[in-house]
Amino acid sequence: MAPVRYPKVAVIGAGTMGNGIAQVFATSGAEVLLIDSDEKALERGIATIEKNLGRMVKKEKLTDDAARQTLGRVGRGTALEDISDQALVVEAIVERADVKAAVFSKLDEIAKPEAVLATNTSSISITEIAANTQRPEQVIGMHFMNPVPIMKLVEVIRGQETSDEVTSAVVECSRELGKEPVEANDYPGFVSNRVLMPMINEAVFCLMEGVATREGIDTVMKLGMAHPMGPLTLADLIGLDVCLDILEVLHRGLGDDKYRPCPLLRRMVAAGRLGRKSAKGFYDYD
Ligand code: NAD
Repeated sequence: MAPVRYPKVAVIGAGTMGNGIAQVFATSGAEVLLIDSDEKALERGIATIEKNLGRMVKKEKLTDDAARQTLGRVGRGTALEDISDQALVVEAIVERADVKAAVFSKLDEIAKPEAVLATNTSSISITEIAANTQRPEQVIGMHFMNPVPIMKLVEVIRGQETSDEVTSAVVECSRELGKEPVEANDYPGFVSNRVLMPMINEAVFCLMEGVATREGIDTVMKLGMAHPMGPLTLADLIGLDVCLDILEVLHRGLGDDKYRPCPLLRRMVAAGRLGRKSAKGFYDYD
């Protein structure tokens, strides 16, 4: 395999995003250390990678041998201390500023001085995360989309202090993963959620005001705007609690009432209707 920009990578968090990120790095030829503080989550993450690679073999997109070698490049651990040898660390843990702050402060102590510390955050300020380290010029956003092995985009977000060298290296690394990187600056929601979430929120307002039914709203956006799925279906997939959290970040961070979360969205979250993950959202799921 061709040499890669970062031959040794650590991914912190083996959940929905982390296992996908580990899979794409291992597929590109890097040795990946996947870390999760929860041993069961780590096992689930590895099992998901194995299942995804198996599916690619069945579809003849990967040979059996290549799948085995790719899986062989994924190491596992439960302690952050294990990342002392990696040149790139990608964090994909829970979306909570206080938890990310603690992890970045620890990563800064453990990682080698030249290591780049990237975060997959959807909405937390890269500049604020970087401020927990002594190397803010080496902290950057590497925002993969879900499902990571399939979606082509990586939003590369520069914090206030992120250097040009680190930005170029991460852009190059994203291309090696077969992704299309797009650079963005550090403002709430970056580009992806700044544009997507107000659309979802407006769809919820349309539903609340009785402008159309849920199916009607989704169909207008699918057939009228060529979106692959309607905004309410997409909100269910993302998680209504996640949508609400991101809208709060946009509202607070940009200070404009056009980002105020729709009362119906708040009510759905309060009722535990979180979308697919709770089997109930704007639609019901088995
Ligand atoms: P998830 O809940 O599926 O996984 C998070 C994992 O991190 C869990 O397995 C948990 O055990 C682990 N973890 C938590 N604290 C930890 C710690 N201190 N050390 C090590 N491991 C720890 O979450 P996710 O959906 O994969 O999201 C991860 C990140 O990616 C978040 O920042 C989220 O905003 C972002 N993101 C999510 C999506 C999405 O569609 N799910 C899309 C883009 C970005």
